[in-house]
Amino acid sequence: MPFKCQVLHCEDTNSPRHRFPNPIKNWNLYQIWIKATGNTKLLEIEPEKVYKNMRICHRHFRNEDKSTNMYLKSNTCPSLYLPESEFTIILSDFQNGM
Ligand SMILES: [Zn+2]
Repeated sequence: MPFKCQVLHCEDTNSPRHRFPNPIKNWNLYQIWIKATGNTKLLEIEPEKVYKNMRICHRHFRNEDKSTNMYLKSNTCPSLYLPESEFTIILSDFQNGM
């Protein structure tokens, strides 16, 4: 069964899926991903379970965030087709600083 994309309102069923950053190794980046989804339910789930069971689909990542057609570079975060929020501003700051 394919993983449902955790980004709010995303109906994508075909794209490759990406795991969240490891919350133990990279808590800050993990938090950024959670916020980017706009999916507040994720805040109530244990980070370890989100990491193991939840995914975000490929279309939320820019080409420059991808190392190949299937994989992401490290230290990247979703930035496309996200629910509208002030968070997109934080994201662009994050990306410009990387
Ligand atoms: Zn999606």
